[in-house]
Amino acid sequence: MSLKEEQQKYMQALQQYAEGKRFKYHIVTYGCQMNVHDSEKLAGMLQEIGYEETQVLEEADIILFNTCCVREHAEQRVYGNVGALRSYKQSNPNLILGVCGCMMQQKETAEDIIKKFPFVDLVFGTHNLHHFPRLLFEAVNSGHTVVEILDEEGNIVEGIPAKRASNVSAYVTIMYGCNNFCTYCIVPHVRGRERSRLPGDITDEIGELAANGCKEITLLGQNVNSYGKDLGDGYLFPDLLRDVNKIEGIERIRFVTSHPKDLSDDLIDAMAECEKVCEHIHLPLQAGSNVILRKMNRRYTREDYLKLVDKLRARIPGIAVSTDIIVGFPGETEEDFLDTLDMMERVQYDSAFTFIYSPRKGTPAASMPDGVDTEVKKERLNRLIALQNDISKAKNQLYMDKVVEVLVEGVSKNNPKMLSGRTRTNKLVHFEGGSEIIGEFVNVKITLPKAWTLEGRMI
Ligand code: SF4
Repeated sequence: MSLKEEQQKYMQALQQYAEGKRFKYHIVTYGCQMNVHDSEKLAGMLQEIGYEETQVLEEADIILFNTCCVREHAEQRVYGNVGALRSYKQSNPNLILGVCGCMMQQKETAEDIIKKFPFVDLVFGTHNLHHFPRLLFEAVNSGHTVVEILDEEGNIVEGIPAKRASNVSAYVTIMYGCNNFCTYCIVPHVRGRERSRLPGDITDEIGELAANGCKEITLLGQNVNSYGKDLGDGYLFPDLLRDVNKIEGIERIRFVTSHPKDLSDDLIDAMAECEKVCEHIHLPLQAGSNVILRKMNRRYTREDYLKLVDKLRARIPGIAVSTDIIVGFPGETEEDFLDTLDMMERVQYDSAFTFIYSPRKGTPAASMPDGVDTEVKKERLNRLIALQNDISKAKNQLYMDKVVEVLVEGVSKNNPKMLSGRTRTNKLVHFEGGSEIIGEFVNVKITLPKAWTLEGRMI
């Protein structure tokens, strides 16, 4: 049976099971944009079966936790949140509780979840998301916990429906997995090796999104810069950018994440040439010390990284640069940390996601000696955040009185009287306006630059 036939068979079976009742679903997503987009696919399949989304947990007939294992904190939240649903399950035995995603791809963790929370109905990993209709059907009918975790990532599956959070701005996965094995990172162990989608499949999907009103796309992959290397025909990420740039209706192109070691001159040229590629790059530094970068297996030096930033700024004037930084990696001395602060000063990032190192079982770094004391890690994190706050504030001050083009995303999460949207440089802008302009490009004059956001007036 082909996958399409399997999906149709179980979707129909689930529709019959529903007997015309409109079941409701609620999905809780942890982690990166890849996970967010996986949740959009789970939602897409549920919608096609006939389920509708609810934000109210008590109303849901199925609750899914799409988990992340990149940091310990996210894992602990999953344990807490799944545990908290015990009473829901007691009061509604027909409720289906599912746990999926990266955490479940680790068999030991999946077993632990099942042992601690026997009321969970469905557990599956990252490699079999496309079998979700069958797994859900089995969970609904079996009366015991359905568990399916595949060791092998398998071929890329096309054509899974997705219910995207926005009509104007969409995520499009261009590749899966990662070959880099940074010593602290669990991703290659749970997402498998790099597999690139075929260019035609990607451009067809984007063409369809554009035809339905999408204006901005974000190309997703753990390391988009190595897109195409596994296809073996010489078609690489810069080629894809140039082709996506030609798609009518798409006005902005973004991409995450870029590994510095794979950021080629051709890619920088493509970014500069393609007028739709936004002037922003997320370029994880992770650490500023060459000793720590080597221990992390990042395969670039601080000097390489600085040269890249210089090249980017020379070719793409005004480009915003954001980053990820880990503090407290095993063996990180005060001197190593000062190197990280120094890199922050030199690069002058627009923003930085800063994390305290947390060991991930099964990664080489988890068994490295010289763990850094928790208090020292916290103190270093605070110093890093304080420096970045000052830099972000100063950088945002440069926007004062400037007019920027904003793609209006929706009502501001913090202030329902304001709208919010992003500049091409990925700055979040708040301003007053009516909901009729959601999804439109507008010009906003910045009147109040803050450390993390800009406020302004539509003109
Ligand atoms: S590049 Fe490194 S940090 Fe990023 S997903 Fe791959 S192994 Fe993890």
